[in-house]
Amino acid sequence: MEDVDAMGDYTRREAVDLLSRMISIYSPTGYESELANFIHSVLTSYGVNAKIDSIGNVVSTIGCGDPRILLCGHMDTIPGYIPIRTRGTRIYGRGAVDAKGPLASMISSFIIASRYSFSGTIILACVVDEEGESKGISRIIDDGIYADYAIFGEPSGSSSITIGYKGSMHVKLTAKSVGGHASAPWLYDNPLELIFEAYKSIKERIEGLSISDDRFYRYSVSLTMVKGGVAANVIPSDSEAYLDVRLPPGATPQSILEIVKQEALNTASKYRRSRLKVEVSDLTPPYEGEADSTLVEAFRKAVKSELGVEPRLIKKSGTSDMNIYANRTGAISVAYGPGNPRLSHRNIEWIEVEDYIHSIRILLRALSYIMGIGVGDVGDILT
Ligand SMILES: [Zn+2]
Repeated sequence: MEDVDAMGDYTRREAVDLLSRMISIYSPTGYESELANFIHSVLTSYGVNAKIDSIGNVVSTIGCGDPRILLCGHMDTIPGYIPIRTRGTRIYGRGAVDAKGPLASMISSFIIASRYSFSGTIILACVVDEEGESKGISRIIDDGIYADYAIFGEPSGSSSITIGYKGSMHVKLTAKSVGGHASAPWLYDNPLELIFEAYKSIKERIEGLSISDDRFYRYSVSLTMVKGGVAANVIPSDSEAYLDVRLPPGATPQSILEIVKQEALNTASKYRRSRLKVEVSDLTPPYEGEADSTLVEAFRKAVKSELGVEPRLIKKSGTSDMNIYANRTGAISVAYGPGNPRLSHRNIEWIEVEDYIHSIRILLRALSYIMGIGVGDVGDILT
């Protein structure tokens, strides 16, 4: 990148203001439009063209040619309003960590990058529905927005880089029978017991596939919801349960689904007077990127020169839009952003302003390493 305009135009105060305003707009999944309009107007006010696509994503592109780098963050948060407040060096509020801090950091570095000339294309995608069904990232893929490198805005802390996420799927088991008096259980199949037995055998079989002691490389099956029963002395006539299955890198969701069905079928065969139905949803494949890819190397150098430390490479047991995009497009991907990931989906979320400012500079440094041209004195930006 080469200095085209005065980089001082985008100040630290503006960066912090952007973050605060984004946090103060409540945007749970399905209600992202106010935030989308706000981001669109911010980009436009800095002279950057942006559009809102038909599903509500804000998309903007600067530069041209190769390499192509995607900066993608989500605008939605989990529900549960937490009012914004600033205390000392921290900003509190819903989404501060997951993931408005990381998204504001991307938008800031994108605005700053737009002031330079560089070789390559940077695409900013602020997407909807990440905490839902990932409709936003799916639209980005369907619209043919491909990149050589993709950076996803998720909290890792400015000194860490996320290189992998487990995969996941949700399994719904529904059992039906006739039900009857609990004093004569030999007359009836018990759908609650059937479901519980099926869950136990699915769990045992799938978790038994694990070959590592490292939790990131292990399978897990959890019973997360159970419904059924009307009274303490009645054998219920129907029951349903949800299982949450987590998959390590290398697992193919389709083959795991076959095992789930097999185990369910085996169990159901012992309950001849019942019906058991298996449905699967939210199937997300795992993703683990190379620890020495060009992208990770760029971040490694960027963290070192900004913070003077060797970054930590982390692998998360959750999932993100990165799983979907990286698997479907083959883009070399990492997730990066300020904030302590342990504060995600909690009732208290806060971000350190300094962590946020560092992450903007680190993103800029990483971008300029990949594009092959030194950005110059990034250290002077946002001071
Ligand atoms: Zn997130």
